[in-house]
Amino acid sequence: MQRLALVGLGASGLFALKELAGADVEVHVFDVGPNYAKRYPCPIDQGKLEVCPPKACSYCAPGQSAGSWNDFKVILSASPVIGGRLYDLIGEKPLQDKLDIVRKTILEHAPVEIPVVKPDKEDLEWITKRATLAGMTYHYQELLHCGSDNAPAINTSILNEIKETGSNIEFHWDTKVLSVGRRGEKFAVNYDRYRNPGDEKEELFDFMVLSVGRGGAHWLTQQEFYKDLDIYPGQVDIGIRVETSCYFTEEVDKRFYEPKLYYTSRHSNDVVRNFCSNPRGYVTPENHRDYVLVNGHSKMFEKSENNNFAVLVSKTFTRPFKDPQLYSQTIAKVVNMLAGGGPLVQKLGDLRAGRRTKTLANNLIKPTLEAECGDISLAYPHRILAGIIEYLDALDKICPGVAGDATLLFAPECKSYPDSISVKKDMETNIPNLFIIGDSSSWTRGVGQATTSGLLAGEGIKKRLTREILPGKVAASNGKKAAS
Ligand SMILES: Cc1cc2nc3c(=O)[nH]c(=O)nc-3n(C[C@H](O)[C@H](O)[C@H](O)COP(=O)(O)OP(=O)(O)OC[C@H]3O[C@@H](n4cnc5c(N)ncnc54)[C@H](O)[C@@H]3O)c2cc1C
Repeated sequence: MQRLALVGLGASGLFALKELAGADVEVHVFDVGPNYAKRYPCPIDQGKLEVCPPKACSYCAPGQSAGSWNDFKVILSASPVIGGRLYDLIGEKPLQDKLDIVRKTILEHAPVEIPVVKPDKEDLEWITKRATLAGMTYHYQELLHCGSDNAPAINTSILNEIKETGSNIEFHWDTKVLSVGRRGEKFAVNYDRYRNPGDEKEELFDFMVLSVGRGGAHWLTQQEFYKDLDIYPGQVDIGIRVETSCYFTEEVDKRFYEPKLYYTSRHSNDVVRNFCSNPRGYVTPENHRDYVLVNGHSKMFEKSENNNFAVLVSKTFTRPFKDPQLYSQTIAKVVNMLAGGGPLVQKLGDLRAGRRTKTLANNLIKPTLEAECGDISLAYPHRILAGIIEYLDALDKICPGVAGDATLLFAPECKSYPDSISVKKDMETNIPNLFIIGDSSSWTRGVGQATTSGLLAGEGIKKRLTREILPGKVAASNGKKAAS
């Protein structure tokens, strides 16, 4: 029997595995994380903390398959701009068909009824008119918000079903894949225990599926085969996590949960957009060990009185600069340096007035994350902040109050994406039998399309096993950018 290694059991890996369960191939799954049943619960959920600490919480960190365990918002619409670029790769209908499978799977495994957020005709007229008057563009989307509290049950239930049909699967939890090399037409996987190393092993495989997420993107670039891949430089998003009152945004929250609103900065022509809204949610640190970003999540049952969402400015670079990830990480580290090691928070009114925030005592908006008060403009490029302020002023026309002085801005909220890797429609790279899926391929930017890319790869591999497809050339590749 042929052997397949799947590295990374996050959102994309799980759905690839769903396809491969019971197939005529011996599957070995490697993940640095512990078994799903043991993935770290949030210390706030456990009642050990009241607010997130500025550092040292791994609940949201990469390595915990963040988005499908944390907040777990799933975009269900095949869009050319939201959630990734699979629309460019496979087209609208095939993408929508796969997203429908993702929707059905999640809903079947949910412990409670999870409503699909779907704007109706009246909602669409409402937002189109207001967005146009504000100079913004609205992009349609349907979504599921599962909530951090339902995520463990859903993921564990999907995995248990896979195990029932997957006698061909062996799991290597708490195992870090150190390297993947090519040995002729095969792949050599070198791995060791993650928490207690000292038992390094190497095994050969016929198929390789890499689903290491954004957290594994740098690791990917260090692999010997990386130079043989067909790649384009990626993009970065530099932005702010905005925290404001849920009462300012309740009308859009009620109608859309998260309306995708795009804006082009008058100042710089940069595209500015919102991302990851968490009505009545919490701002959280996202600990990358050598720097700390901010993020946000919300729960189905426990609610705050705030809304948080990211406002991001997308940047791509041309020659000679080739390392956008280093650029965004450097900005993040400067923010952390100013804050004494964690995130910074500043009132919008103070940022506009060019002064640092000294205290949040008596501020209308109470923060859900304890962060150091300071001056973000000491670390962020002016064009980025100017675009963000313009965006908030435009949004204020739709959600009056959002651009008020008391609104809180947390930094750094930076997202760097891996290089764009050329793949066929089933995510096979130009190296035969090497599939790269999910965010580490750069084709996806969220749980919906990451899981879809897993389904595509799983199906593609099954077809190869039954010889429906013979190895061929990479058919689909382009450097077009899209946002999530
Ligand atoms: C805090 C946070 C919240 C988010 N919330 C949302 C949300 O609500 N909705 C949404 O759509 N998106 C969200 N995202 C984005 C979302 O997490 C990703 O788009 C999605 O998880 C990508 O899936 P993936 O399979 O590519 O990677 P991941 O889900 O990150 O999985 C990667 C897996 O690979 C493993 N791994 C990595 N390197 C190795 C190695 N060398 N050896 C072994 N295992 C390895 C990791 O342990 C992990 O399990 C969020 C991201 C963060 C950080």
